[in-house]
Amino acid sequence: MDLGLTGRTAVVTGGSSGIGLACVELLLAEGANVVACGRDASRLAGALTPLAARHGDRLTWSVADVLDPEQVVSLVGLAEDTYGGVDLLVNNAGRSLMSTFRETSDEQWRDELDLKFFGVINPLRAAMASLTESEVGAVVNVNAVLARQPEGRLVATSAARAGLLNLSKSLAGELAADRIRVNSVCVGLIDTGQWKRRHDAADTTLDYDDWSAEIAADRGIVLGRFGRAPEVAAAIVFLLSEQASYITGTHIDVAGGVSRYV
Ligand code: NDP
Repeated sequence: MDLGLTGRTAVVTGGSSGIGLACVELLLAEGANVVACGRDASRLAGALTPLAARHGDRLTWSVADVLDPEQVVSLVGLAEDTYGGVDLLVNNAGRSLMSTFRETSDEQWRDELDLKFFGVINPLRAAMASLTESEVGAVVNVNAVLARQPEGRLVATSAARAGLLNLSKSLAGELAADRIRVNSVCVGLIDTGQWKRRHDAADTTLDYDDWSAEIAADRGIVLGRFGRAPEVAAAIVFLLSEQASYITGTHIDVAGGVSRYV
């Protein structure tokens, strides 16, 4: 299946690890130009230099915090200066907050809502002019099953994720007039840096594989394992592609069957 991505330009936030890095790899393999960001310069260089060696001048990156509008404008400017515009945007940068309602401070609530909303609003605002000019403008917001199936131990993240899913629907409606499609991917538990860090911080004698298998069983993941970043990237890149040209305002769950809603 030809995804029609050759020569298109994608901006991927949080491209130095996990799901974002897998998107960078797949977009490059599909012939797109990619501009990625993260907050840590050495993490970006470590992850992306080997890819740049394979794909040459189709990959570039810059340090940018998605919560800093000026840095995000510079990131999009880099894409426009280097490749002539932005066709595709993957709003992926982020993390989750393990915290119950009793444990969550006001500051944590505000940080979580800020990250989930402005982590999308800032890049989208910065890229809006370019996306409008593109014939194939498409945005994918990386979200979580938590948006529709909240968990008490992730109370602020679940609420913020629900808001982002709602916002994504509104954006799809408003931006359709400019032929920009907006969709989401709702992930379950994906085996990336986030979970490796949680394992390192956990009070457990289990190795990572046994620890994650135990969590998968406990959470009711019917496929019995964590997902892998390339499995999420495949759904994201499909939604960005011309093969998804009639799909907007919706989401795909990539979650091993953990969602219980119909
Ligand atoms: P990783 O921790 O592996 O990677 C996160 C990436 O985002 C890194 O490149 C990180 O780089 C970057 N990043 C984080 N904060 C910012 C910021 N403010 N500005 C710019 N870049 C940032 O995460 P995953 O791949 O696991 O997660 C990707 C997305 O999927 C996140 O939004 C996460 O919340 C969501 N998700 C993941 C789940 C999972 O099980 N893995 C479950 C549910 C949702 P740096 O730190 O250098 O900035």
